[in-house]
Amino acid sequence: MNLHEYQGKELLKRYGVPVQEGILAESKEEAIVAYQRLSAQTGSPVAVVKAQIHAGGRGKGGGVKLVKNEEELREKAGQILGMMLKTPQTPGGLNGPGKLVKKVLIAEDCYVPRFEDCKEYYVSILMDRERKQNVIIYSTEGGMNIEEVAEQTPHLVHKEYIDPSVGIIGFQARKIAFNLGLSGTAFKEMVKFVQSLYQTFVGADASLIEINPCLETGDGHILAVDAKVTLDDNGLYRHPDLESWRDLNEEDPTEVEAREHDLNFVKLDGNVGCMVNGAGLAMATMDIIKLSGGDPANFLDVGGTADANRVEQAFRIILKDPNVKAILINIFGGIVRCDRVANGVVQAYKNIGDIQVPIIVRLQGTNAELAKQIIDESGLKVRSAILLKEAAELVQEALQ
Ligand code: GDP
Ligand code: MN
Repeated sequence: MNLHEYQGKELLKRYGVPVQEGILAESKEEAIVAYQRLSAQTGSPVAVVKAQIHAGGRGKGGGVKLVKNEEELREKAGQILGMMLKTPQTPGGLNGPGKLVKKVLIAEDCYVPRFEDCKEYYVSILMDRERKQNVIIYSTEGGMNIEEVAEQTPHLVHKEYIDPSVGIIGFQARKIAFNLGLSGTAFKEMVKFVQSLYQTFVGADASLIEINPCLETGDGHILAVDAKVTLDDNGLYRHPDLESWRDLNEEDPTEVEAREHDLNFVKLDGNVGCMVNGAGLAMATMDIIKLSGGDPANFLDVGGTADANRVEQAFRIILKDPNVKAILINIFGGIVRCDRVANGVVQAYKNIGDIQVPIIVRLQGTNAELAKQIIDESGLKVRSAILLKEAAELVQEALQ
């Protein structure tokens, strides 16, 4: 689950990470009140208006604006709220439709005393699956172009691996501050910053925390100006308060619907829908689709109970995608008997009615032969297979 910047900062604050302070606003009126409250707190008329969408690169797309007084605030907040913000990371990139901005963060200007006196660093934490360790990635070249830095000057991007069973040790945090070239107050604050950031990562079951920029102010203070946080969905049950931060406006509507039906669904860009029981089998099925010349339109694990009702929900979700040219149902009948699944498929098909795309069903396991017979005798436009190879050939045919 992705968080908005304002939520990410709220989370970081709970773990003692210093952040650029701000107040959230969902309308121009709220933005003005937020601005007045904020400037009373900071004693400065300068503030930043920041669009809150689930995509980075907002600055490049015009979603982050510095304002010097209330008049400018009214103008910029008015422009940003309700705009379709295009950034390199919104769907389709800068040529895509962009994302509707419904909320803005009115934030303090923390580039003090002057913009030129500040330094922007990059700090992120994620898991390195191959090493089975967490990794802190950091660079002196923070700001808006970290992807280019990584590509063109990879030696400026450093990594510090953290053993998850030990956690971050003082030496590692000091090494990071040292490699960033810090000294004095900034050094001390960076050590704490990195340690608290790691506590946040572990404590909240995050899968990614990216701070870009992490700012060193002119007077040597370290704080997070931006926060991109992704929480691991599998850990969310331990954080019901964070679960309530989910912003359904930002998520794929079919994925939201699938979650309501407890289906494990991820939307992809291909043309063959797939419905499978078990995540491993789903991965293998996607490979088979690729090998037969198609492209998976989704990942869908219906789980252990592939009954008529679940199959029907899964059908409905897959059929919402206009790119789908064929559907491959691949079920292994271990606990669930294949004939029950076959009856479920027939029932679901009849309930939905008018299905135009060809459907290929491959049932293997207990009562597989009987299941094939049920499908073949149903009189529906459903092709059946027992071997995966046959199923792949049928998919290939269907795509022609
Ligand atoms: P992103 O473009 O989505 O990554 O949004 P960020 O929150 O990282 O902001 C983008 C850029 O806006 C930063 O790299 C800064 O250059 C600028 N910016 C953000 N906050 C401030 C601020 O308080 N003062 C000034 N002067 N610039 C800021
Ligand atoms: Mn940023």
